[in-house]
Amino acid sequence: MTFAATVLTLYPEMFPGPLGVSLAGRALNQGTWSLDTVQIRDFATDRHRTVDDTPAGGGAGMVLKADVLAAAIDHARALRPGCPVLAMTPRGKPLSQARVRELAAGPGITVVCGRFEGFDERIFAARDVEEVSVGDIVLSGGEPAAIMALDACIRLLPGVMGAASSGTEESFENGLLEYPHYTRPVEWEGRTIPEVLRSGDHAKIAAWRKQRAEEDTRSRRPDLWERHVGARAQSASGARQKNEGPGS
Ligand code: SAH
Repeated sequence: MTFAATVLTLYPEMFPGPLGVSLAGRALNQGTWSLDTVQIRDFATDRHRTVDDTPAGGGAGMVLKADVLAAAIDHARALRPGCPVLAMTPRGKPLSQARVRELAAGPGITVVCGRFEGFDERIFAARDVEEVSVGDIVLSGGEPAAIMALDACIRLLPGVMGAASSGTEESFENGLLEYPHYTRPVEWEGRTIPEVLRSGDHAKIAAWRKQRAEEDTRSRRPDLWERHVGARAQSASGARQKNEGPGS
């Protein structure tokens, strides 16, 4: 089944962009996923094809108009009725690998790219739209964020990464960062590859990787580590309760 990507943007020429090369590009050519862009400006109703207006209450910049956005979203929804609609905004819920996995398993996604100061807030009450952020940074437009979200989905589609990886050992898949990698030469600028990785002892290697994934997550991403430890404690206490049975 083809994963349908639909992008609502004022700059359709930005697509496929980076998604047209390498793994995603090959998959696009092979029909693993499809790409349609919708020009938001086509849904403006006045002679000047206006898509934005000044912010109510004053302040810098311009705001994308709710009526124009709604018309563009309704059009896209009619094109791809089964696809969730995501709006890219720093005010949204941070995109997670778990959500990416869910999206990649579905029929596709429709992504709305903001510009200027962003969207008229009423669009989120009036339409079923998931507000998504790609990090605590501010971009000049939603297009690079859409490319990130799409890239993360596309690499998970069946056949895209090949046998190289099911992706299950990667960062965030089990709530941890991935362990570090090394490749030949064994010695480079006086630094050697950790001995254990050259031992051929698969159990030892697995243990070392698990330990490094945990250590690095704890030191680099205390937020992830806290959540991981919390989830582990919860699943352990859940298992205990189950074993103890009702009423005990
Ligand atoms: N005034 C807004 C920022 C607007 S940036 C604010 O302070 O929240 C312009 C557009 O870029 C946004 O509408 C959004 O579509 C996109 N964008 C910027 N940063 C983003 C991020 N971290 N995640 C997703 N989209 C982002």
